Amino acid sequence: MQRGKTFIISGPSGVGKSTVLHELFQGRDDLYFSVSATTRSPREGEVDGVHYHFLSAARFRELIEADALLEYAEYVGSFYGTPKKLVDRAMDEGKDVILDIEVQGALQVAAKRPETVRIFIAPPSWQELERRLVERGTDSPDKVQKRLLRARTELQTAGVYDYFVINDTVENAVREINAIMLAEHCKPADRMDILNESGAETPTRTSLSSR
Ligand code: 5GP
Repeated sequence: MQRGKTFIISGPSGVGKSTVLHELFQGRDDLYFSVSATTRSPREGEVDGVHYHFLSAARFRELIEADALLEYAEYVGSFYGTPKKLVDRAMDEGKDVILDIEVQGALQVAAKRPETVRIFIAPPSWQELERRLVERGTDSPDKVQKRLLRARTELQTAGVYDYFVINDTVENAVREINAIMLAEHCKPADRMDILNESGAETPTRTSLSSR
């Protein structure tokens, strides 16, 4: 069985990531959503263990000290981190793992596991992002301002990602993410079994370009 791949999905607060991910996961048992740990308080409707593992700051520190997090970062006054063991288990089961994490965490994962695919979801425009964040109404005006400030720096670092998806409509964004995931599974490294079975010499970029 082919080991699963990890895909990071980042994007500024209010870009509509949760809606896109919700759609992406419809009817897919080959995908695993990594439920993060956080010290932030639950929003209305958020369920512990489903949307996040809501932890105290002390418990979060324990996880850091036990090296149980693949990455972690501070975001607008709260800590967020990815539990390592569950990600690895899902990949061992052949599932693709989706990490919904911000840019600092994405950089940490890229340094530790360079094979991770990084996708950035951007809004169609800055004005649209402001509108969505204010109209969402889940954060105080002060937090909205802090999230917008953070969004600006995140958009500036988006160039280091492997792919850029524009969330103009949920349908388009999901289609593009599915296309990226499919293409990543067509890389030669994923298809070595077939090449090896045929006894073919494994082509490399250098051997191809020297022909
Ligand atoms: P929210 O509070 O809106 O749920 O999330 C705030 C930000 O934290 C989002 O950009 C989200 O992607 C990010 N985030 C969620 N979980 C994690 C995590 O485990 N690690 C990191 N680095 N960021 C996370």
